[in-house]
Amino acid sequence: MNSSMNHYKEPAPILDKENPFESMMERFEIAAKIIGLDQGIYNYLKAPTKQVITSVPIVMDDGKLEVFEGYRVIHNDILGPSKGGIRYAPDVTLDEMKALAAWMTWKCAIVNIPFGGAKGGIKCDPSLMSQNELERLTRRFTSNMLDVFGPDRDIPAPDMNTNEQTMAWIMDTYSMHSKKTETAVVTGKPTLIGGSLGRKEATGRGVMTVALGALSKIGIKPENAVAAIQGFGNVGSITAHALYEKGVKVVALSDINGAIFNSNGFNIAELIEHVERHKTLIDYQNAEVISNEELLELQCDILIPAAKEDQITSKNAKKLKCKIIAEGANGPTTAKADPILQTKGILVIPDILTNAGGVTVSYFEWVQDRMGYFWTLDRVNRRLDRMMHEAFVNVYKSAAKYDVSLRIGAYIIAIEKVAQTLKLRGIYA
Ligand code: NAD
Repeated sequence: MNSSMNHYKEPAPILDKENPFESMMERFEIAAKIIGLDQGIYNYLKAPTKQVITSVPIVMDDGKLEVFEGYRVIHNDILGPSKGGIRYAPDVTLDEMKALAAWMTWKCAIVNIPFGGAKGGIKCDPSLMSQNELERLTRRFTSNMLDVFGPDRDIPAPDMNTNEQTMAWIMDTYSMHSKKTETAVVTGKPTLIGGSLGRKEATGRGVMTVALGALSKIGIKPENAVAAIQGFGNVGSITAHALYEKGVKVVALSDINGAIFNSNGFNIAELIEHVERHKTLIDYQNAEVISNEELLELQCDILIPAAKEDQITSKNAKKLKCKIIAEGANGPTTAKADPILQTKGILVIPDILTNAGGVTVSYFEWVQDRMGYFWTLDRVNRRLDRMMHEAFVNVYKSAAKYDVSLRIGAYIIAIEKVAQTLKLRGIYA
């Protein structure tokens, strides 16, 4: 295991397919300049506090030894223990972890929860691994991370290709070493072992709250609104269902296999059942099959990218015909696309606000674990709705105050909060 301070280098020129860390830094730099951020604090915030690369050896089911590379980046922990997901994917990189960890710092600051930002992952292809191999991988990674993880230090959560079961294995491994059950070391656990009601739905519910807020700002009632949603996984399907229940007409949806369109709108509850049975949207009756590119370019009130990063770029931004973009995914819009969307007058609700419902209920889960007292679903949802609404209002105020986009307004809130905390705490030397 190695852990080191990272020294900042000027980012390379941004190409259209953006390195996520550079994309994050472009926005950070704009916001930092606008508020005249002190150079020392700027230098402190641009570099992650800790970057761990660890080798994870496991014996595969066929008896062969394989070694995987695991990462955990703690961008900043000045607001409290660091918080962020763990993803398993063949294309996990340290740069991606750095960007996602920084986004977690900003997200937690925007929704006003006492956490810093982190992200981790293992470079592996979970689709080629058995449950037993995944369990051994997770437990060995956790044991390598015993000095990093902890309810008061760094708290993982699920991300791409990890789930409640992965969190249960991390919690159990950590607890075995602590000689006591430590439920608060991870969030996104099964409810039976200290998970929170409403956690699974929290990100989509938060996306719905800010999407309705943005519609109301431009004077469109939910029952008159038309939405298109890219991605039909956890975030996309729950957002679609929540909007559908509020009367929004969802006319287009997609998954990795392609997109479907119906100008009359879809019954989302029926579509969720269809996907449970058929594993894809694409063969759903009463729908025209379109491409993912066509979905993004549809005429609609609100477009919700909820699949992956780099979907709205300088190439397709000019062709978009929506009024609002609510970024359910992390990093779906490249930094180069931002000014094009702004010139077109498209209102972009940034990812670091839009999808912060997930980490907000993760915070509730951590609080409940530490109290040993569990809330009703109604209490979780009411508190989530209130915090998302407050964050939305604050981002709007910040954007208006500095006459900037909502994205830069959101970065300004986050940077100011972290910077003020740092000034109060001071630098220990
Ligand atoms: P998921 O794996 O459950 O779903 C992803 C969906 O996107 C699937 O329907 C998949 O088929 C689709 N997809 C993948 N590639 C696509 C492509 N090229 N075109 C169209 N669709 C494609 O993932 P998720 O948890 O819903 O996460 C989606 C995004 O939201 C990610 O960027 C994630 O980081 C972000 N996010 C998730 C949460 C959460 O709580 N799950 C919280 C914050 C942010």
